[in-house]
Amino acid sequence: MNLNQLTIKDAKEGLQQKKFSSVELTKACLDQIEKHNKELNAFLIVCKDSVLEQAKKVDALLASRSEAWEATPLLGIPFSMKDIYSTKNVRTTAGSKILDNYIPPYNATVYQKLIDAGAILLGKTNCDAWGHGASTENSDFGVTKNPWNKEYVAGGSSGGSTAAISSDMTIFEIGEDTGGSIRLPASFCSTVGLKVTYGRVSRYGAIAYASSLDSMGPIAKNVYDAAYILEIIAGKDEKDATSSPNNVPNYTDRLNDNIKGLRVGLPKEFFGKGLDTEVKQAIDAAIKTLTSQGTEIVEISIPSVEYGIATYYIIAPSETSSNLARYDGIRYGNDRSSFGDEAKRRIMLGTYALSAGYYDAYYKKAMQVRTLIKNDFEKAFSSCDVILSPVSPTPPFKIGEKADDPLQMYLVDVYTVLINLAGIPSLAVPCGFSKDGLPIGMQILGPQFSEEKLFQIGHAYEQATEWHKQKPNL
Ligand code: GLN
Repeated sequence: MNLNQLTIKDAKEGLQQKKFSSVELTKACLDQIEKHNKELNAFLIVCKDSVLEQAKKVDALLASRSEAWEATPLLGIPFSMKDIYSTKNVRTTAGSKILDNYIPPYNATVYQKLIDAGAILLGKTNCDAWGHGASTENSDFGVTKNPWNKEYVAGGSSGGSTAAISSDMTIFEIGEDTGGSIRLPASFCSTVGLKVTYGRVSRYGAIAYASSLDSMGPIAKNVYDAAYILEIIAGKDEKDATSSPNNVPNYTDRLNDNIKGLRVGLPKEFFGKGLDTEVKQAIDAAIKTLTSQGTEIVEISIPSVEYGIATYYIIAPSETSSNLARYDGIRYGNDRSSFGDEAKRRIMLGTYALSAGYYDAYYKKAMQVRTLIKNDFEKAFSSCDVILSPVSPTPPFKIGEKADDPLQMYLVDVYTVLINLAGIPSLAVPCGFSKDGLPIGMQILGPQFSEEKLFQIGHAYEQATEWHKQKPNL
């Protein structure tokens, strides 16, 4: 196995046992980026010199003392981030030409926590500009191709992040999910991705899309790694008033807990019209696996599902129209003429929904429906522990297939946006492939702060299946 293919756990063990150095591990990732990034366009920014320099320092440190692991659990492990995180002295674009030349003067909390833990930054990955999209086709820096079939999209908006993981250019990634942007590309590229409970991870320094929905989370090669990263990045942050003071469990400690007896809810509305048969078959097979592991299946109902897209596409554009107002050309680089079409569309939609006379009819109504959606989930969780659902109604689609039809693109989010509106966590895990060899994913969702349980189920499922171990033929 090449070093760039390692998980965090294996990379760390190898470094601890001095089987290889941090420089060797980093070089393996940089080589893979060099080989495949031109074609895939997963990375926008590669910090080649600085990451190698840091790896050298780590190797020197490890040569002189070996106990460095206690305080720095990710020492010498190369990683990458969706390009929406402020990284001091490293260019940060949010996938938009507006920020083409923007160099942040400070670090996002998530990034700071990772570098404090010893991780070293390989670079920043491509995304739909401002997180607006489901295919990375709205990036002002070109589309990211799907490593499993380069004629297909990698999903979005964190498409560069998941393509980087599935093509083994990086050891782990941090994405961002406002309405599905971690889970959808995770399922399109066959990686694990977690949308956390709103407030579980600080949003400080992450370029805002829609502030009441934005969730920062890991994208990884398996569930263990995702749990491990969350232990490090979660927690209260003085710089983000919406971050939760709830205790952060050691998620990896209880990963092997028995899932026997857990009740898995299947919302009947999620399995009806519009769901691709191959996706349905993959989920059905996953249900069988989970039942054979002792979980109990219960049918539940989330009646508000049909209002999810309409509600989300009022609230998210409203918030983004407000957040994007600061890019006026005075404080950050380029002026408003550099906004792409999708950003302009959302600014117009949001401004309209928030304007006097329409506020009550659109924004306020959407907020009321949001409460009903939240109530639906709360009610559902009185009869089940977690809910199982498809991530996307179809396998990945072709580049260009939906690019000219925004509504078709929005409909891809039908199973993901509800979770952000309700503020609950959801773990996406690979669960199969279409007959054309395209990845299919499922999501396991639970009540607020139930990440530990989601990891346990995802981990148990991984023990019984091989999907997460498959590699694309680059
Ligand atoms: N596809 C959704 C949108 O365009 C979700 C994006 C996201 O989660 N950042 O809004």
